[in-house]
Amino acid sequence: MSETPKEEKLDFVRQIVADDIANGKNEGQVQTRFPPEPNGYLHIGHAKSICLNFGIAKQFGGKCNLRFDDTNPEKEDTEFVEAIEEDVRWLGFEWDKKLFASDYFDQLYDWAVQLIKEGKAYVCDLTFEEVREYRAGWNKEGKDSPYRDRTPEENLDLFERMKNGEFKDGEKSLRAKIDNSSPNMNLRDPAMYRIRHAHHHRTGDKWCIYPTYDYTHGQSDSLEGITHSLCTLEFENHRPLYDWYIEALGIHHPQQIEFARLNLSHTVMSKRKLLELVQSGLVSGWDDPRMPTIVGMRRRGFTPEALRNFCDRIGITKFNGLTELPMLELCIRDHLNRTANRAMVVLDPLKVVITNYPEGKSEMRQAINNPEDESAGTREMPFGRELFIERKDFMEEASKKYFGLTVGKEVRFKNAFFVKCNDAIKDDDGNIVELHCTYDPETSGGKAPDGRKVKGTLHWVSAEHAIDAEVRLYDVLFTQEKPENVEEGEDWKDNLNPESLKVLTGCKLEPSLAEAKVGDRFQFERMGYFCMDKDSQPGKPVFNRTVTLKDGFAKKKKK
Ligand code: ATP
Ligand code: MG
Repeated sequence: MSETPKEEKLDFVRQIVADDIANGKNEGQVQTRFPPEPNGYLHIGHAKSICLNFGIAKQFGGKCNLRFDDTNPEKEDTEFVEAIEEDVRWLGFEWDKKLFASDYFDQLYDWAVQLIKEGKAYVCDLTFEEVREYRAGWNKEGKDSPYRDRTPEENLDLFERMKNGEFKDGEKSLRAKIDNSSPNMNLRDPAMYRIRHAHHHRTGDKWCIYPTYDYTHGQSDSLEGITHSLCTLEFENHRPLYDWYIEALGIHHPQQIEFARLNLSHTVMSKRKLLELVQSGLVSGWDDPRMPTIVGMRRRGFTPEALRNFCDRIGITKFNGLTELPMLELCIRDHLNRTANRAMVVLDPLKVVITNYPEGKSEMRQAINNPEDESAGTREMPFGRELFIERKDFMEEASKKYFGLTVGKEVRFKNAFFVKCNDAIKDDDGNIVELHCTYDPETSGGKAPDGRKVKGTLHWVSAEHAIDAEVRLYDVLFTQEKPENVEEGEDWKDNLNPESLKVLTGCKLEPSLAEAKVGDRFQFERMGYFCMDKDSQPGKPVFNRTVTLKDGFAKKKKK
């Protein structure tokens, strides 16, 4: 069942898939896979690959597997396997089969034996450094290993003894016999197996030799009947090797297709670097809301819909570029504008006393939950004699362009009344501590019966009913667009933004937010989109700012 409208232009990968189906290649079947290594949490770059692989399967009536590429025992862990599964599901995708490359270790071993017997692989005694020297640089011709001409019998014996643990790490390796003069370094007798006496998160201590990524990946694709093996551009140079193994073994031949990876501005995306941030305590964990990880973005308040929409918009090409953060922000604003209920929250409170409002009285005002979605309904919020407004919504001396309160001026308090400021009360140090105002009960509908106009509309919270909260404001994690681009001797971590997190306490929430649950998302009117954080305690809510209401970057750029 095809979901693509006919007129829609397909990206180049989808075009290949569509053409293959039309030509009856692979009997018209489509089988893809998403192949993470379980050595860290997924980030937004992985989301691009997930949306592509699962998206193609869905669009063309095919299937997509989740395969863990777990050939590096030291770095991998079941914790990451579980987190990855959760992230893929959260993004809205379900795999056909869940598979592990480590399940193919026996088959991969048998295939290695087959290649040895056919004289296409040999056991080499060169050390890692010696191999590097022999293979030489891409602009020089490589040299053959002195062990290259071992007989299949000798190789079989040595390979078995490698497996049986007779040798130490690095003492021997199994290499494919290809071409040491190839301009493609990947074809200069690449390693197939290395000795590593290490515990594997799934196979335990069964193996002390582990297949390399290149030797494992294509054969795993082949075993699973993958038709289109989609990977990022760095693997373009590996494709001849991918094809070589599959042809040498004479097995099902998936087509490897490379696309440009996602690079996002003001962040880093390599799992190694993200791990470094976590381990050095520079962020609070993989799910720190400033991290580009799926768990971090989820905690920050991003929605799966917004991330999928983002992946759609950036598209699939062969050109490596840099995607700017505002594109991502646009997607989340767009979704939350349609789906998040509004609430009134004062982040930096200044007390307002309505001097002509009776003491001890309060009244309920109606508020629309989401002007973009009638079905979201309305709620009540109390109005009373003492209120809070945003400190920056009052100025002692203001120009005509200022829409907030000043002494002598009248503004609208949203969903309530016109309010006029008569006096600003200061403490001994000259700080404004309280405003004395009067309200006009005739303006209950947001209009004055005499037709007088006000310019500004402010949000407010009843002081008596407000809930105290902590609010965390986030800015970009790195000050540089490409934080990894550093001179030699410099540390990319020096590009961290020291002001990426600002914690506000004593913020005032409207009382309806007492019902909010961890993960709930709101638009705090005039302040941005916010999401309730897991650090919240009963009676002590914590909110994360997902994104501001306006595109701060665009504004800065225009200047
Ligand atoms: P990292 O360098 O962050 O460790 P990786 O490529 O080694 O990333 P894998 O777990 O091997 O991480 O990746 C799983 C899949 O996700 C691969 O197919 C990979 O090409 C893809 N992928 C990883 N990073 C990106 C990215 N930035 N953009 C698009 N696809 C990506
Ligand atoms: Mg990898």
